[in-house]
Amino acid sequence: MVKSKRLYEQQRLPDKRGYFGKYGGQFVNEILMPVLIELDENFDRYYPTSEFQEEFHRLQRDYGGRPTPLYYAKNFSKFIGSKVYLKREDLLCGGSHKLNNALGQALLAKKMGKSRLITETSAGQHGFATAMAGRVLGLEVEIFMGIKDIARQASNVKRMKLLGAKITPVKTGAGVLKDAVSDTLREWTSCSRTTHYLMGSTVGPHPFPKIVAAFQSVIGKELKNQILEKEGRLPDAIIACGSGGSNAIGAFSSFIDDNRVRLYFIEGGGGSLDADNSAAAFQLGKPGILHGALMQVLQDEYGQIKSSKTRAAGLNYPGRGPQICYLYDTGRMKVGYAFDEEVFEAVKVMCQTEGLIPALETAHAIAYMLNHKEEFYGDEVIVLNYSGRGDKDLEVITRRFYGD
Ligand SMILES: *Cc1c(COP(=O)(O)O)cnc(C)c1O
Repeated sequence: MVKSKRLYEQQRLPDKRGYFGKYGGQFVNEILMPVLIELDENFDRYYPTSEFQEEFHRLQRDYGGRPTPLYYAKNFSKFIGSKVYLKREDLLCGGSHKLNNALGQALLAKKMGKSRLITETSAGQHGFATAMAGRVLGLEVEIFMGIKDIARQASNVKRMKLLGAKITPVKTGAGVLKDAVSDTLREWTSCSRTTHYLMGSTVGPHPFPKIVAAFQSVIGKELKNQILEKEGRLPDAIIACGSGGSNAIGAFSSFIDDNRVRLYFIEGGGGSLDADNSAAAFQLGKPGILHGALMQVLQDEYGQIKSSKTRAAGLNYPGRGPQICYLYDTGRMKVGYAFDEEVFEAVKVMCQTEGLIPALETAHAIAYMLNHKEEFYGDEVIVLNYSGRGDKDLEVITRRFYGD
């Protein structure tokens, strides 16, 4: 009993050194250590205060559009054979869950007296959310982006520029996310007095995974109240897609202690597990250091970080956040994956049954349900964390269905 209580505490919070089991930690340049300590202390100081909570709540509600609805997807449920609810993070301003975290960290940065935010982005979704949060809170924003990603994500680059963010192209290495991450960490060592590094998911050195999880936990808190109101009981399972794990951890947050609620995490399988573009880091990766933390990471035969290229840009982060790794290792959470072709089929089903175009990331979770109907029983209540809308993916989706 005592032992399992301790396990749950570890699953929710890292230990003092920032570890969830063996994952996490602070593998950074020593110049950054005092900066991370300062961040941790300030988070613990401001976050619990009613002043911070009120401001954060007001921004989430009146600017972001929270609470997001919990929608009983009756038509889709018939396809699955159990009762499926969608937690509608696609309705948050910006079109995904990412704004929850961006607003929280921007507010924290402001409380800490910082005037500038830096971050890195690959798909551009997190860069866009950071640009929004920076504007609304009056902070300068600079975004590091690999040159290849800038070319691939032109529409998000336009959005960020329109919001006044400075885009800094990263030419080093392969010109992709992992190179942008190194540049952003390097930049931070030289400007941390004025600048906050706004981490985009439950990844990075401690205390970032803890902070991002706290800001995303709003999803799980709302979800718990909503399902109790609609069904009078907890769900049997919660299913979320992910890479770093922020939308999944957010949705799971209020249920981690309750073993009756099954948790599913779905990653990007790519063309197949043998394909070069697979992002299934739990199937193919190994423990390694990325972004200042020990995580399950996709690596090549020489131990170099391997980038993936699934069709869902947001699932191409090569690592799994420390908490998600720990939930998997301890058996609390089940991991699955979906392949590109199955994901397009899932988009089609969601469009046809509910008239909703899901983000390709979200469609991985949908695809998993469609392909594993036998895991979800007739009398069960399942919540799918509907992390984002598919407008950003429209071109890729229509090209797949109709050609150019
Ligand atoms: C970024 C993104 C994800 C993946 O990020 P996590 O931090 O793993 O949640 C999933 N869905 C959508 C719509 C995204 O934009």
